[in-house]
Amino acid sequence: MRAEISASTVDGNALAGLLSGLWEGDVTAMVGVCGGCGSAAPLAETVVEIDEAAAIVRCRSCTHTLFTVLRDVSSVRLVIGRLRELGRA
Ligand SMILES: [Zn+2]
Repeated sequence: MRAEISASTVDGNALAGLLSGLWEGDVTAMVGVCGGCGSAAPLAETVVEIDEAAAIVRCRSCTHTLFTVLRDVSSVRLVIGRLRELGRA
């Protein structure tokens, strides 16, 4: 007998609880997986090139850009690069 798995299609408001749990606490403890080499490591172990306008976050193993954080006086934006996965253990 096969178990039935049901899924629902809803709008993005359904993400509120899931994503708030992901981003709470120390974000540098989150584990990122590089889409370039497959390395998995806490964000605290990445290599970051930073100035007033941006932080470029690179994989320590292969140097691909995982993501970039852009900031100005009114906003902060995250531009995804080779980051394949981000999560908590
Ligand atoms: Zn890598």
